[in-house]
Amino acid sequence: MEQTLSIIKPDAVAKNVVGKILDRFESNGLRVAAMKKIQLSKADAEAFYAVHKERPFFGELVEFMISGPVVVSVLEGENAVAKNRELMGATDPKEAAPGTIRADFAQSIDANAVHGSDSLENAKIEIAFFFSRREIL
Ligand code: ATP
Ligand code: MG
Repeated sequence: MEQTLSIIKPDAVAKNVVGKILDRFESNGLRVAAMKKIQLSKADAEAFYAVHKERPFFGELVEFMISGPVVVSVLEGENAVAKNRELMGATDPKEAAPGTIRADFAQSIDANAVHGSDSLENAKIEIAFFFSRREIL
């Protein structure tokens, strides 16, 4: 069993498709082990995406992530990290495979509906960033 971190980003929360996105996870063998709706501060978003701080899109990425509330969850299941990435689809929704979350709910590479941890190592770091042990059930 693996755990991974998912963020339903401000664009998808604003479109009121949180339930539809969670259904993709639950219908494909992932279980919600923890979940909360939060408004990230600028410092939160900068810290969370610190790996991208030298990239030209970093400022826009941070502004987008704080533009409205997000829904953060811990997803649990077999191969949860890879499974979540597969369900999400490619970073750019124009390149995302049909039937993926980004193909169905995202409009652009910055407003791309969801985040998912890209490795088991990063999943552990990202889960600890948002949740205490007693919030993960
Ligand atoms: P995430 O980390 O959000 O799950 P990802 O792993 O598919 O997405 P990353 O390369 O980690 O993609 O980029 C992080 C985020 O930065 C992307 O989700 C996207 O919103 C934004 N981003 C990435 N590349 C670009 C780009 N070329 N222009 C604008 N925004 C970008
Ligand atoms: Mg990433």
